[in-house]
Amino acid sequence: MHLSTSRVLLLFWRAVRLKCPNCGGGPLFHSWVKPRAHCPSCGLLLERGEDGYQVAPFVFFPFSKTLFLAFDLLFRPATTDELR
Ligand SMILES: [Zn+2]
Repeated sequence: MHLSTSRVLLLFWRAVRLKCPNCGGGPLFHSWVKPRAHCPSCGLLLERGEDGYQVAPFVFFPFSKTLFLAFDLLFRPATTDELR
């Protein structure tokens, strides 16, 4: 696993812009509170079997989703099974 500073910054930069942390594509949401199942660009499965993505208050939902996804990708990079 490669955890360079530039990779960390890239993942979180994409996340705060509500883009896919894995590829920078999107959109990842149908609406403010309704995420897509997969990234439309790289196909990354957005529900990765981890609870806690949706614990933040309603207004921060999209940001909490993408930021937790970026954090998760730092330690568990996307596998081919998670990309369609
Ligand atoms: Zn993607």
